[in-house]
Amino acid sequence: MEKFDTTGMKLFLIKLGEISLKGLNRGFFEKKLKNNIKLKLHPCRSYLTREKGRFYLYVDNSVSDEKIEFILKTTFGVVGFSKALVVEKDWDEMVRAAAELIEKEPFADGKGSFRVQSRRSDKSFSMRSLQIEQQLGGVVLDRYPEMTVNLKHPDKTLYVEVREKVYLYTSPVDGPGGLPVSCAGKGLLLLSGGIDSPVAGWRMAKRGLNMDCLYFHAYPYTSDMALQKVKDLALLLGPWLQGTTLLVVNFTEAELWIKDHSVEEEHTLMMRACMMKVANKMARKRNARVIVTGEALGQVASQTLESLCFTDSMSKIPVLRPLIGMDKNEIIETARKVGTYETSILPYDDCCVIFSPKHPLTRPDVEQQTKSYNNMDIEEILDKCVNEAAEYPINYI
Ligand code: ATP
Ligand code: MG
Repeated sequence: MEKFDTTGMKLFLIKLGEISLKGLNRGFFEKKLKNNIKLKLHPCRSYLTREKGRFYLYVDNSVSDEKIEFILKTTFGVVGFSKALVVEKDWDEMVRAAAELIEKEPFADGKGSFRVQSRRSDKSFSMRSLQIEQQLGGVVLDRYPEMTVNLKHPDKTLYVEVREKVYLYTSPVDGPGGLPVSCAGKGLLLLSGGIDSPVAGWRMAKRGLNMDCLYFHAYPYTSDMALQKVKDLALLLGPWLQGTTLLVVNFTEAELWIKDHSVEEEHTLMMRACMMKVANKMARKRNARVIVTGEALGQVASQTLESLCFTDSMSKIPVLRPLIGMDKNEIIETARKVGTYETSILPYDDCCVIFSPKHPLTRPDVEQQTKSYNNMDIEEILDKCVNEAAEYPINYI
């Protein structure tokens, strides 16, 4: 398999799962995943080849295991991975590699139970799986006489795969699964400083959507701290999103205009309508085909079914709401997993709440609100918002 020189490099086996079942499109998905991994490893020396639903990733020894693990744990499409030793199909070499592996974690303490689990896809190899397991089990017991064999629930496992070569590993790690980012096209994430929208972005990235992020800032009504918080969230999302661009729109003029040109109960709805309009304009400019928000049904006044219908009517392109049916607790759980929760709960001021009415309409009528929106005559201000937006590139590592 190796047409390249792998001296001075370490090997990671990568499990692909869903994308290896993609039939005719498999090549497309695998190529995206390969590019995404390679991009994150750049400029370090690495080789990545595919064989039977697996990736074999060789990375220069100078790159730390922690860095490679971080990359693989935050790259959608990776179902699992293990750092492995690779040797020729030669018994002495296999024993030597097993002996080397069990000197390290998780075997290093020489205690508890273990098993050897062997898979032999190359049936021409003279030893059967059971034989390999028994004999390498013997190697472990010679080294660590205190250890016991437990085939059902071992504390530690030594895995052996006999393919065109033999691969041995002890510590498989779960990847995030999903589809490689950008295989589904591009969207625009409305990213606020709250808990929900980072999770919404993460979920859509998991289904392969590439995204720019758009934040509405209302300086000086919302502070620089609020902007910094959104930048921090974008940085935390960066690895998952394969990098992104944070677009910051100054929304102050629009908000003041809304305040002066609509009735108080409608302020929130008018603001959400304007956000949708700006998002549509920005999406066109950035070649995004959908808008993503962190809305969940019934969470706040602007997320009742009627309000959502109105916001929807303001958008020409589809609005994806991956959290629509999730409870706050479920969203929080995901936010912790993604790593955005602690930042999201820092106190901040959102432009949505600056001018929020005491009694917002919760059951708006689409026709009525559309009239209110048109009466505001705000289009020019919204165009300016888009044209004067600031751009912050966010890296993927
Ligand atoms: P979040 O926790 O994501 O802020 P939320 O529960 O506070 O959501 P809203 O404030 O009504 O709910 O916002 C609903 C969605 O609108 C957000 O999830 C986000 O996608 C978008 N949004 C709200 N405020 C902003 C903002 N200042 N900039 C960009 N998008 C925003
Ligand atoms: Mg919010």
